Amino acid sequence: MQNLINTNNLHAFYTSSYWLNLREEILKDHKYECQKCKERGFYKKATHVHHVQYVKKHPRLALSKTYIFQGKEYKNLIPLCHNCHEEEHDHRQRKKKKLLTEERW
Ligand SMILES: [Zn+2]
Ligand SMILES: [Zn+2]
Repeated sequence: MQNLINTNNLHAFYTSSYWLNLREEILKDHKYECQKCKERGFYKKATHVHHVQYVKKHPRLALSKTYIFQGKEYKNLIPLCHNCHEEEHDHRQRKKKKLLTEERW
């Protein structure tokens, strides 16, 4: 499995049957609901399964439903709708950019 994850090209991973089966299982487990919208109190169909721990950074967790952080177990794979998924990635990028400018000044 690990050899499917090439840090420069994750295509092989995202099209593998390991991932596609797990993705389907996660969606089913969550009734195909976007988990972020659900928290906000409304229903939206999930179209993406987001990795909390990025595949690139944590290839070992690519097929793991949960991860352990400071002795606590968290969900690693979260069904999200398109908008929430974009938001999730945007959010992190903005944080990074902010850090960069802070360093420069
Ligand atoms: Zn959503
Ligand atoms: Zn994502």
